[in-house]
Amino acid sequence: MTKKYTERQQKQGNKQGSLSIVATPIGNLGDITLRALEVLKQAQRILAEDTRNTRKLLAHFGIQADLQALHEHNEQTKIAQIKNWLDAGDDLALVSDAGTPLISDPGYHLVKQLAAEGYQIVPVPGVSAIITALSVAGLATNRFSFEGFLPAKSVARMNMLQANAKQPRTQVYYESCHRIQQTIVAMAEVFGADRKVVLARELTKLYEQIYRGDLGQLQDWLKADSNHQKGEFVVIIEGYIEEQNSTQINASSEKLLQVLIAELPVKQAASLASKITGQKKNALYRQAMELKKS
Ligand code: SAM
Repeated sequence: MTKKYTERQQKQGNKQGSLSIVATPIGNLGDITLRALEVLKQAQRILAEDTRNTRKLLAHFGIQADLQALHEHNEQTKIAQIKNWLDAGDDLALVSDAGTPLISDPGYHLVKQLAAEGYQIVPVPGVSAIITALSVAGLATNRFSFEGFLPAKSVARMNMLQANAKQPRTQVYYESCHRIQQTIVAMAEVFGADRKVVLARELTKLYEQIYRGDLGQLQDWLKADSNHQKGEFVVIIEGYIEEQNSTQINASSEKLLQVLIAELPVKQAASLASKITGQKKNALYRQAMELKKS
């Protein structure tokens, strides 16, 4: 492994170790890179989010290592020890349970502090669920925002969605099986049932599925088969499109909506009103939600 010497090392005049940030697969073990294997083999210590998971991964590739736990609860306190190892010349690697460390995974505090102090930090790139999902979504990729996991508390979750409702960029969210259904319901409520969405489920694994449709249809798809709610998910939402949503609801459509929401669920009322009037379902859905509130 070639070593570049940092300013800090030159000042100290001794060889300092480096910290490699190593991406690992998100399902299919064949996605590990040759360089990741090489770096993991050569590291004196591997910092792992969960040492049991990483031990299984390393065993698969015949790698033995000194594994050290680095998770969200001990990250801050472990930094001093990690600096001692680096100062003693050890090369370290950081891995998480899946994908790229620091991407909704531990490592941020460590990298921030080491970078500020001039330590050498080496990226060893590979898989991340965001990029994997975006690469097959078929939604705009020229500009996108990564939103990570939505807050668990419903008020905070709705606030974040509302803040993103008119964002023109494609939005990428992570979600687990426990909350996928309620998240899609909340998204339909805030973004409108006909906002385009791509749900990437169990990427690179046996039951990989990529669902493309709108948020209204996705709610039905999730309910149609309990298997659809299992596993890990990336949710990709199309950015807000101005012309599509600025449709003014005229007085007769509003009257029609008022009649329909008295009898039907909002989503169905908006869909029916759209068929009758030819106006955008999304705009009618928003109006129906407003009418319902008032
Ligand atoms: N560091 C990882 C990365 O680079 O993507 C993400 C770790 S985060 C704790 C775990 C979340 O990533 C899951 O809840 C899911 O939203 C997403 N994810 C990870 N693996 C996935 C997969 N195989 N298919 C779909 N989503 C996945």
